[in-house]
Amino acid sequence: MRESSPDDSSLPPTKRRRFGGPSVPHLSTPFWFGDGDIVLEIGQHRFKVHRTRLQCSEIFSDMLAIPQPEDAEAVDGCPLVQLADSVQDWQVALKWIYDPDSFAVMQHPVPFPLLPSALRIATKYEIAALRAWAVSHLCARWPSDLERMDTASLPCAAEAITLARECEVPDILAAAFYALSLQRFGYNADGGRSHIVLSQADMRRLVIGRERLHDFATQLLLDPLSAAPGMPPFESCDNCREGLQHYWRAKVASDSQSPFERWLLREFYMMLTAPDTLFESGLCVTCLAWHKDAAWTRFDTLKTSMPRLFCL
Ligand SMILES: [Zn+2]
Repeated sequence: MRESSPDDSSLPPTKRRRFGGPSVPHLSTPFWFGDGDIVLEIGQHRFKVHRTRLQCSEIFSDMLAIPQPEDAEAVDGCPLVQLADSVQDWQVALKWIYDPDSFAVMQHPVPFPLLPSALRIATKYEIAALRAWAVSHLCARWPSDLERMDTASLPCAAEAITLARECEVPDILAAAFYALSLQRFGYNADGGRSHIVLSQADMRRLVIGRERLHDFATQLLLDPLSAAPGMPPFESCDNCREGLQHYWRAKVASDSQSPFERWLLREFYMMLTAPDTLFESGLCVTCLAWHKDAAWTRFDTLKTSMPRLFCL
């Protein structure tokens, strides 16, 4: 059996070393370099790597500057450092540490599982460049400019919220909550298992946000021409009224057969950036001006109120 040094319990887990020979088998890993000069042990996995590579971490940099005690355990002639992290997280971090260029060239959206691993290790061990890489890709998936959200925002939104809490990336929260709120619990997709992933407080935020979004959509459905928050009531002309009402209701109504709620913010944004010219050509000048104004005001209102809708 292994024994712990009697006085190492005061050290943080990352700096503790165990003494005595290993009695459990260790699994080989792709990061076992013959000329490595330090061995990282995580569970039953060991990585023989280079101290110079670990200098990218402020924590390792400080730790390695401390002279090693003479009786420290050695593996393969190298000091052994035991880490209380997940193996998968370190495998991702070591891939970046040894080949940052392969990460730099990755295009949005990068595979999501890379992001929590990279971010957890980067945050805990203070690897600024790796954290910046992970945060930039999280922000690409869940941008603070909510109109830049795309379908890559939908999967893993609950995991992203939990990760944002754990590693302090609050900028992604509004987009991640909104992406999650679009997914119906009745379908066995991400939305339906949010309660397993989210904290109770964040689950409550999600429910409240969905209620408020539902109210927003219901108001527009009931009265598409005068329910715009921040806009004066509008009396359209007789010729345009029915067409306008029909157009707006069609944009707002959700399809009960769809696993998703209507993505209102995107609908409004599309009205601004890719207007339906055929529909608009049938409106009189006054009603067209109101229609365009309403699209902008409703888009802007929804976007800017999103953090408040989810109590962020
Ligand atoms: Zn008109």
